[in-house]
Amino acid sequence: MAQKKMAKSETEWKKELTPEQYRVLREKGTEMAFTGTYWNEHGKGMYRCAACGNELFSSDTKFDSGTGWPSFSDIAKQGTIELRPDDSHGMNRTEVVCSKCGSHLGHLFDDGPTPTGKRYCINSCSLKLDPEKK
Ligand code: FE
Repeated sequence: MAQKKMAKSETEWKKELTPEQYRVLREKGTEMAFTGTYWNEHGKGMYRCAACGNELFSSDTKFDSGTGWPSFSDIAKQGTIELRPDDSHGMNRTEVVCSKCGSHLGHLFDDGPTPTGKRYCINSCSLKLDPEKK
């Protein structure tokens, strides 16, 4: 089922997010590898969208990809993310976007572990780990 979209102005986002989060989430930036909060996080819980709280990835699907970004082999549930073709920076990539608030989260690659073979490569600052929600 489609989720209700969140309509917020960029001015509002700028007020609510840190400058780094705004750059990544709203301007499709990428945080530097091995600098984020969660690339080496092994705690259990639900990774929510840092901008809107949408449930995105369970810690059960998190794996050590060696890339320096939090990496997940699957989404938490259907409909929480949108995939868009991204031809920027001379690459053919698939952008991962929060379906609720439209924020940029990271990219999806097809070199993940079995059984999905997917690697959702997500910026730490796009995420907020909720340890209560399993
Ligand atoms: Fe969101």
